[in-house]
Amino acid sequence: MIDIKTRRLQLAHTWTISRDSTDYKDNVFVRIEKDGVTGIGEAAPNFRYGENAELTVQHLNAVAEKFETGDWWQYSEIKDMLDKFITDQSCAKCALDIALMDWVGKKLGIPLYRLWGLDKNKAPVTSYSIGIDTPEIITEKIQEATDYPLLKIKLGKDDDRIIMETVRAATDKRVRVDANEGWKDKHLALEKMQWLESLNVEFVEQPMPADMLEETAWLRERAGLPIVADEAVKNASDIPKLARAYDGINIKIMKSGGVQEALRMIGMARALNMKIMLGCMVESSVAITAAAHLSPLADWADLDGNLLLAEDPFYGVEVRNGKLILPEEPGLGVTENP
Ligand code: MG
Repeated sequence: MIDIKTRRLQLAHTWTISRDSTDYKDNVFVRIEKDGVTGIGEAAPNFRYGENAELTVQHLNAVAEKFETGDWWQYSEIKDMLDKFITDQSCAKCALDIALMDWVGKKLGIPLYRLWGLDKNKAPVTSYSIGIDTPEIITEKIQEATDYPLLKIKLGKDDDRIIMETVRAATDKRVRVDANEGWKDKHLALEKMQWLESLNVEFVEQPMPADMLEETAWLRERAGLPIVADEAVKNASDIPKLARAYDGINIKIMKSGGVQEALRMIGMARALNMKIMLGCMVESSVAITAAAHLSPLADWADLDGNLLLAEDPFYGVEVRNGKLILPEEPGLGVTENP
């Protein structure tokens, strides 16, 4: 059985990054069942990649029969099938991949991090993201974020200087910056990176547009801060060409099409001596917990999508003083909030 349902998730605050602004997200949830065991998955469609809830549901329906009749123990075969039949809407693949791994973990009676041989104590601290906003609201958000020792600041519009001055007036916490492709000129990007280095910034994510690979390589040779690819990387096959322009990659299971591809990406990036960041979209605890089970393999985590919701319909990974605390229950270890 596969049940597919779109749910509107309201955000606690309007969420603004360099390219858009939103108050809610329509995510698609799947529930699969076989032999009395249920698995749950989630798709968070992102319009940057041409995705939306309607197309996601269409793709899920189109592949549902093949998925249901497959042997779910052969989960890597199912991944190959999904890769073959869902070539865009990677978030739809992700929903089924998460649900499948949840089912496998529950059948085996072990949490996913254990299935992958990981030490849950090595789960990193997650950053908490502050969207683009007025100085008053940014200050308010930083004050609300007292439980999080590490912040991620969104830049890339024309108010970078005001935002960073506001941040540094409010806190001396470690921060990382995400420009979301906002700096379109390499000289401007270099100037920004050198200025950010003087403000105790840890690294900069996607300073320039994904298609400006040469310019980003130029920037990397001159900038002191590490540069992390986000919009430039979706799956493992994207990684080799990025190795000379970026120090690390931001893996998101919605882009990769699930946790199985994320594992391949981690292997590929490590082989190329690149750093691993695990990120997310605006997601409930279903998808965030799935990514969190991989987090002992990451250098940096930014798994806060569920923390930005007004109300999370699910309960899974916890955050204590910023550190990700993985559930011990089998599979994802996620339950529905009553
Ligand atoms: Mg990013």
